[in-house]
Amino acid sequence: MKPAPFDYAKPASLEEAFSLLDGHGEDARLLAGGQSLLPTLNMRLSAPAILVDISALEALRGISIDNGMLRIGALTTHTELKASKEVARAAPLLAEAASHIAHPAVRNRGTFGGSLAHADPAAELPACVLALDASLEIAGRGGTRKVAAADFFHGLFETDLGPGEILTAVEVPVLRKGFRSGFAEFARRSGDFAMSALAAHGRFDGERVHELRLVYAGVDIRPVRAQTAEQTVEGKAVTADLLADAMARLGDDLDPMDDPHASGVMKLHLSGVLLGRVLSAMAGAHR
Ligand SMILES: Cc1cc2nc3c(=O)[nH]c(=O)nc-3n(C[C@H](O)[C@H](O)[C@H](O)COP(=O)(O)OP(=O)(O)OC[C@H]3O[C@@H](n4cnc5c(N)ncnc54)[C@H](O)[C@@H]3O)c2cc1C
Repeated sequence: MKPAPFDYAKPASLEEAFSLLDGHGEDARLLAGGQSLLPTLNMRLSAPAILVDISALEALRGISIDNGMLRIGALTTHTELKASKEVARAAPLLAEAASHIAHPAVRNRGTFGGSLAHADPAAELPACVLALDASLEIAGRGGTRKVAAADFFHGLFETDLGPGEILTAVEVPVLRKGFRSGFAEFARRSGDFAMSALAAHGRFDGERVHELRLVYAGVDIRPVRAQTAEQTVEGKAVTADLLADAMARLGDDLDPMDDPHASGVMKLHLSGVLLGRVLSAMAGAHR
């Protein structure tokens, strides 16, 4: 199918972008990499009057480390995330997860900011920013505000972004001594959206794990933390018995719905398998 007719504008500054958004209200949509938006236009699930292409906004570009924080511009593509030396050093979870997103053609155009703003419940990067306790920088006419990842994802494709606002960057605390992360997912085919994905981040003190954050994608209407499982392993050495205990309690945290690809029961089982794999790998890296 072809999209409904729309106008197109490519602002050269944030100010110009805000003017276009103000002028067109709900009839305007931001366009970043287009990898989620254009399919919805082509399928006529959405028919905005104007697309505001933000790809020329320099304020949304760049990756830097300053004062213990890794700052990643919203226009950073999935390919750039995967290749960045700064990301590999300061937040390797993001690079690892980016390699699970779709295929090179999609990763070359799709952006970090676009993935977070789109908030697909099965997307990898929203789960990662929650696991890393990142904060999101949002700019609007009235100035800039920061929102914790934990408060950003409201529901199915719903976020904290208000009318006229643009996600400009993501800030992630630089990986501290003793902290490790891990990522794994089950998808029907390589590059497909995950049936269940797990992003994990925590501190290891010898064999013992602390401050673990386990965040699942693909099992709820937004990324979800498995806090009972986190509490089960807190301060303990990662053994086969402990993992079995944590996996058994995952049903207190997750209640996946059936979808055309997998039943909820199967997704819960796969989520447990991911927990065992990811936590074993994180603990094993310390032996
Ligand atoms: C075949 C295929 C397979 C895919 N597989 C996966 C996958 O396995 N995992 C996965 O996570 N994703 C997958 N995707 C989606 C891909 O990751 C997209 O790149 C991403 O979801 C959106 O990024 P984008 O830059 O393309 O955003 P766009 O499509 O341009 O925009 C998406 C939405 O976000 C809004 N938006 C974009 N940038 C901003 C911003 N800075 N501030 C505010 N709002 C903004 C837009 O207005 C729009 O509503 C797939 C896409 C395709 C086509």
